[in-house]
Amino acid sequence: MEPAAAGEAAARGAAEAVLRAAEGWEFSTYLCGGSAPPGFPGEAGEVFRKAANRTLGTLLGEAWGGARIPEFRNPEMRLVVRFPSLEIELHPAPLFVYGRYRKLSRALAQTPFHCPLCRGRGCRNCAGRGRMVEGSVAEFVLPAVVEACGAAGGVFKGCGREDADVRMLGRGRPFVLELARPRRRTFDGAAVRARAEAAAAGAAEFPVLHPVAREAGERVPAVHPPKRYLARVEVEGGAAAGDAERLAAGLAGAVLSQRTPVRVERRRADRVRERRVLAAAARALEDGALELEVRTEAGAYIKEMISGDGGRTTPSAASILGRPCACAALDVLEVEMEDPGPPLGRPIHP
Ligand SMILES: [Zn+2]
Repeated sequence: MEPAAAGEAAARGAAEAVLRAAEGWEFSTYLCGGSAPPGFPGEAGEVFRKAANRTLGTLLGEAWGGARIPEFRNPEMRLVVRFPSLEIELHPAPLFVYGRYRKLSRALAQTPFHCPLCRGRGCRNCAGRGRMVEGSVAEFVLPAVVEACGAAGGVFKGCGREDADVRMLGRGRPFVLELARPRRRTFDGAAVRARAEAAAAGAAEFPVLHPVAREAGERVPAVHPPKRYLARVEVEGGAAAGDAERLAAGLAGAVLSQRTPVRVERRRADRVRERRVLAAAARALEDGALELEVRTEAGAYIKEMISGDGGRTTPSAASILGRPCACAALDVLEVEMEDPGPPLGRPIHP
């Protein structure tokens, strides 16, 4: 058969195979095509391929109508036809799901915190658990979304992170889930959120959870917005009159010079980072401690900004007040990032 006619004939069988293979997969944009079979080398192969793909495009367009439209740049699904076997390869684009989490527990990690000595196998350091902290925010929300989307798996990427003993309050911290091979690209947000929060049993909440466009999904883990914190500062011997005012005045506008904290030194190279304190306010509490609210550039070590970390962070509450200080409790109040909306044309199920 001459190559154009052969391509058209092959496309008719291929269209049926594509429609069958696509059953059970949710996608609204696609790219479908095949390459020339071995029997059509060179120029003939190119004629076959073009004829086959053109016919395939027409047949799929008729079958799917406006529900699924061809898209060349970032299709939600790529379908590759193998001629002459008519095997269909499905390549769904990853699905990005945006969310925010509130962490109400002071004993909860963002992602699994494995024991650094045994790396999860279990040893004396971790009493055989393999973990330094039980549970994680990621383990509450990721399985619920993976299952709702029928995905093969997924990863959790936070917009920064906080220590396990730090609460994340306010509107919550932005994060993105990147799902591999999702069968569904929309889900009932309220139901999934209820499942994730049931798993968290009061330790975490997920006030925002919906799909986003790929660009937004890739941006969220990479931005470094300012943050607001609330800390309980314990001053050795108790805070004196005027300490709250001196602390706020000493920190507001200061540029913190922070050597890598001793507590994270094993995980990160020792270097000096400079971060600005954008605003600071403090008040004396009745029990002799201070309550400190600060707004800082991303990446500031707040506990060390209070303790001074043995002189590795300056200035600090300790250096400003001239007495040892400790951060007894820390909350993140705000991660200053705007929420990306859902992808255009996508319903949100609140
Ligand atoms: Zn261990």
